[in-house]
Amino acid sequence: MMTDLGNAGNAAEIIKKYGFSFQKRYGQNFLIDRHVLDKIVDASLVGKEDGVIEIGPGIGTMTQRLCEAAKKVTAIEIDRELIPILSETLSGYDNVHIINEDVMKTDLGALIKNDFGEMPVRVAANLPYYITTPILMALLEQRLPIESITVMVQKEVAMRMQAKPGTKDYGALSLAVQYYAETYIAANVPPNCFMPRPKVGSCVIRLTVRKKPPIDVKDEDHMFMLIRAAFNQRRKTLANSIANHPGSGHTKEEVIGALASLGLPETVRGETLGLEQFAALSDMLIKDSASLIIN
Ligand code: SAM
Repeated sequence: MMTDLGNAGNAAEIIKKYGFSFQKRYGQNFLIDRHVLDKIVDASLVGKEDGVIEIGPGIGTMTQRLCEAAKKVTAIEIDRELIPILSETLSGYDNVHIINEDVMKTDLGALIKNDFGEMPVRVAANLPYYITTPILMALLEQRLPIESITVMVQKEVAMRMQAKPGTKDYGALSLAVQYYAETYIAANVPPNCFMPRPKVGSCVIRLTVRKKPPIDVKDEDHMFMLIRAAFNQRRKTLANSIANHPGSGHTKEEVIGALASLGLPETVRGETLGLEQFAALSDMLIKDSASLIIN
C-alpha cells in the first residue's frame, strides 16, 4: 500500500503540499481514521471479482483500500482541485479510473457497462452530506445493476432510512429505500474521525439492492405519489393529505372509501402505514378510479 492516508498527519501533509483548501459547498469532510475505513470496506463486502463505484474519493484515502480489495474501482470526483492529488495518491494502482464529474450528471448505466462489463458492481462512499438523498435515490430508482451501496451518511439520515412505521424517524425516505433495498447499519462514527470535523454524528449503512421489490403494486409512481402526499402533511389524516396534494386526483371521500375497504379507519395517518398497506391503498384507489371512468 502507498502512504496510508487514514492517518491525520499523512492526510494533512498531502493537503498542504498541494495547497488544497476545503470546499464547504462540496461537503468535504475527509476520513482520517483507519479503523473506520476498514469498517466501511469490510461492510461493503467488496471482493476480488467486484467492480466498485466510489462517489467523491476526496484525496483517495478510501480509494486506496478499495483498489486493494476490488478488481476495479471507478471514482467520480466533482472537485478538479483534487484530481492532481488523486493522481499522486493512487499512482501505485493500475485498477483505478478517476472521473472528474458531478455524479448527478454522470450516466451511471453507461459507465457500468463500459468500465465493468459483466463484473458484479458495488457502490462505496463517504457521501457529501448536502446531496446524500438525491444520490441514493438516483442510484436506486434507475434500477442500475448494483449489488449493494455502502455509504457513510449523517446519522439522522441513516435512522430515517431504516425506520419502521409508527416511529418518529419514519417517512417517505424509509419507504422508498426499503422498497428498493434491505438496510443494515454497520457502524456509528463520531465527528473526530473526519477532517474537518462535521457538526453531527455519522453512520455507515449498507443497502443490499433487492432483485425484486418486497411487495407487488400495480403502479409504483402512483404509490410513491401517495407516500409523498402522506408525509408532506404529516399531521393531517391520510385522507386529507391525499385530497389536498396537488395533482393527486383523489377526493377525500374516495380515499376514505378505499381505506374502509382495507379495514382502516378514516382518521388513519400515513405514518402508521407500512409499504404493503400503501401498495394496497394505491391499487384500491386506481381500481376505484377505473370503475368510475367505466361507469
Ligand atoms: N472519500 C473521501 C474521504 O472519505 O475522505 C471524501 C469524502 S467527502 C465527505 C465527499 C467527497 O465528495 C468530496 O471529495 C467532494 O468533493 C465530493 N463530491 C461532492 N459533491 C459531489 C458530486 N456531486 N459528485 C461527485 N463528487 C462529489
